[in-house]
Amino acid sequence: MRQLFRACCVGLLLLFSALASYAQNQVPVFVSGKKQGHVSALTKNGITYVDLQKTARKLGASVELFARSKQMKITARGFYAILTAHLPEIIQNAQTVVLPAPVLAEGSSMYTPVEFFLLPQFGQAVGKEISFVNGALEVERPFDFARTDTLTGPEQDQLVFSSRKKITWTTASPNPHTVVVTFPGVTIKRDEHLRLKTNFISAVSIAQERSDAIMRVVLGKKAGQWKMEEEDGKIYFRAGKTLAPAPATKAEVAQSTPVSAPESKDDFEEMPAQTPSATAVMKTATPVMSAAAQTPVMKAAPQATISEARKKMRIMVDPGHGGKDPGAVRSRVREKELNLAVSKELYKLLQKGGFEVKITRDNDTFIALSDRSKKANTFKADLFVSIHTNASKNKNANGFEVYFRSEKATDKEAAETAALENEAMQYEEVHYNFVDALLQSLAKNEYINESSKVAGYVRNAVYKQPGIGIAVSQNNSVRQANFYVLKGVQSPAILIEMGYISSNKDRGRLTQSAVQKRMAQGIYDGIRNYAKNEGWIK
Ligand SMILES: [Zn+2]
Repeated sequence: MRQLFRACCVGLLLLFSALASYAQNQVPVFVSGKKQGHVSALTKNGITYVDLQKTARKLGASVELFARSKQMKITARGFYAILTAHLPEIIQNAQTVVLPAPVLAEGSSMYTPVEFFLLPQFGQAVGKEISFVNGALEVERPFDFARTDTLTGPEQDQLVFSSRKKITWTTASPNPHTVVVTFPGVTIKRDEHLRLKTNFISAVSIAQERSDAIMRVVLGKKAGQWKMEEEDGKIYFRAGKTLAPAPATKAEVAQSTPVSAPESKDDFEEMPAQTPSATAVMKTATPVMSAAAQTPVMKAAPQATISEARKKMRIMVDPGHGGKDPGAVRSRVREKELNLAVSKELYKLLQKGGFEVKITRDNDTFIALSDRSKKANTFKADLFVSIHTNASKNKNANGFEVYFRSEKATDKEAAETAALENEAMQYEEVHYNFVDALLQSLAKNEYINESSKVAGYVRNAVYKQPGIGIAVSQNNSVRQANFYVLKGVQSPAILIEMGYISSNKDRGRLTQSAVQKRMAQGIYDGIRNYAKNEGWIK
């Protein structure tokens, strides 16, 4: 891993080869018909090669250089490609794509056949239509979906969208407070992250993910129902305590709905789906179907009622280290044993508490860091909790800390803690290669907010738990750092450092089974409070 980081940091490519036989020229770039500079190019045998780094940046992608492997990685939202000097094969989002000619390297630059930038996936990712016409790169900005308005009110909050083509969507509710809407094959105008903090909609993010647009809505505390629907050529996401009929459709409903208009969803389901009266009824916000389900152009998923029974929250408990990897060792006390003891207690508490729970190891075995996150993802965990014990050269360093992952460490010590835990990678049997590393680095990081929330709950509960005897600082015990083990986890994830094995005091406490139980209880209480707050449990 260290070598990989070093390779990433080296900014200069070495001199790979001389390209005397290529004609040097320039390719002009036109954006929406206006000339916006040019990029350097080479031509040979009818193939135009453009400067990879400069062209990518000009078109809105980012570039990383890997000098050791003579590779460049180009990224834009939902898109990445790895181009290697002298090879026509590139890796594009885990697929192999073959360019018309090998990538060239000259001096500190790499040149790619211009076709690379014409890949539809690239254009989609940078939100542009790119073509190569008469020796020039032409760039247009297309989109077919945009948020046009946000309406808030005492009864409901609404997000309003307009669309340039017929679109469909599906919805999912990964937890009671989150709605994920997927619009397949839809290009949005721009990525957005809005913090509304209204009664019914707390936050919204809209992002392009490959060819799909994904909207994530975090519902507000007072939201009881939500729905997606199409009305008068616009698309609405609505959330409210209960969703009353829209005023515009009231008359229609009164006319066409029987006096004994059924309120239960069972009755609605029996209604003939395609009759006008059914359409009108659908618009009154039934708990089962949305109006859009009745509109031929739309294929909408059912709307949801938040109070409906749902699955148990799944938690993956991860005792750090194990087997040949002892973790930190001081005075013959091994971190892996402390981690396992507390994790097993926590596991028992969670099971009793009505959670669905798994543990990455329940004995002294070695598990690679990457396999830990894989296990959590296979289990479809809603929360990943990694249990560790910290160590420092400074014998006075002590105290309990909870970390959540972020690329940026809170401070130098947090970065050092992460480096210490990431060292477990040196024990991994499988050499973890370049592409794996890249794929990992692209793993979604959308869980940072939730993770920081869990971290806060756990910290507070451990602080309140009597009988632990390990310091929990008021303002410095929830921290962020770049932990590899949390990186690929597709759920909120925290890493707990129960104390310092290098501190005589902390070590003395953590080796006592009574303290281990208290520690587990504190962590459990924190998770439980989080689950309660998020609506997982009553
Ligand atoms: Zn550790």
